[in-house]
Amino acid sequence: MNKTYTDVLIIGAGPVGLFSVFELGQLGIKSCVIDSLNMIGGQCSSLYPEKPIYDIPAYPKISGQELIDNLSQQIKPFNPKFILGERVEKIKENREGFLVSTSNNQLINCKCLFIAAGNGAFGPNKPPIINIEEYENKSIFYHITDKLMFKQKRVAIAGGGDSAVDWAIELASITEKIFFIHRRDKLRAAPNNVEKLYSLEKKNKIEMIIPYQIDSIEGSNGEINSLNVKNLNGEKKSLSVDFFLPFFGLSSDLGPIKDWELEIEKNLLLVDQSTSQTSIEGIFAIGDVCSYPGKLKLILTGFSEAAIAAQSCFKRIFPDKVLHFEYSTTSGVKGL
Ligand SMILES: Cc1cc2nc3c(=O)[nH]c(=O)nc-3n(C[C@H](O)[C@H](O)[C@H](O)COP(=O)(O)OP(=O)(O)OC[C@H]3O[C@@H](n4cnc5c(N)ncnc54)[C@H](O)[C@@H]3O)c2cc1C
Repeated sequence: MNKTYTDVLIIGAGPVGLFSVFELGQLGIKSCVIDSLNMIGGQCSSLYPEKPIYDIPAYPKISGQELIDNLSQQIKPFNPKFILGERVEKIKENREGFLVSTSNNQLINCKCLFIAAGNGAFGPNKPPIINIEEYENKSIFYHITDKLMFKQKRVAIAGGGDSAVDWAIELASITEKIFFIHRRDKLRAAPNNVEKLYSLEKKNKIEMIIPYQIDSIEGSNGEINSLNVKNLNGEKKSLSVDFFLPFFGLSSDLGPIKDWELEIEKNLLLVDQSTSQTSIEGIFAIGDVCSYPGKLKLILTGFSEAAIAAQSCFKRIFPDKVLHFEYSTTSGVKGL
């Protein structure tokens, strides 16, 4: 059985988990990052790598993936260990701090834990189609990493939220045709984007298939021939498409973290905002997974929580040292 020793184990390689490597490193604290996905980047890389973010301070516009690439560059001097494709399952308090075990039976011994688990070890909500696995990552995608694969193709997008609407607008300029499928008349996405969607319908770039829901798929060898949809009256339509992109959101189950006896409210970990510490000493929660009065689920808020948690855990990592607050302009980048 593999065993890793580190000062802080960071659960979640999303933007906030990654930035906490920097904040810890600047204080001389070693970290190891684990994620159930096979890649780093959390929601930014999995859900919207090519979409521009406009509210990262000092970046008027930066794509989800660029942000992650920059964070990756920023934390390089600290050389963190990454354990990818493994979910954290159990924790046990011990003399040194915590002993953590993973879905692949790895053991990690750490003095503190940073939970930066976002919405939990996430996976897409899938449409109820028999044999959907045959088509996944061939003609059905739950997230987009390279939009050029849809150039001049016929694409069906399903869902009623921001992801479905945003991607329909984004892809409309390169696809041959987009079918936008939703089971209700009303869309939940940002109103100005819903307006844009309907203006693209008028220009014949998008065909609205509303109110319809997914019924079945016909195809072979992972390629779709037709996507069949039906409405509440049982009327059916068969759409000839090359790709199907269902955007039904993510499951937001915290999984095993729920059993760790941390104070939880509405699937979020309650923390003291002044320290980012949870109800268990030595366990901190930062980013989308944590909650306190006035909490905003934004990347910039998570970055600030990472800095606060790093300062707060210092005493536990180095009980004999005194923490002197320093600007990075004074300290430079320390590296480990
Ligand atoms: C479409 C969309 C657009 C957005 N636009 C913006 C925007 O413009 N500005 C903005 O500030 N925010 C935006 N957000 C929100 C932003 O992406 C989140 O606030 C941010 O990703 C939270 O970062 P995080 O590191 O806390 O968690 P996440 O990015 O969710 O990463 C958490 C990671 O933890 C992993 N994990 C969870 N549980 C476990 C476990 N038990 N074991 C191992 N790994 C685990 C998950 O697999 C995941 O990779 C947007 C979100 C979406 C979906």
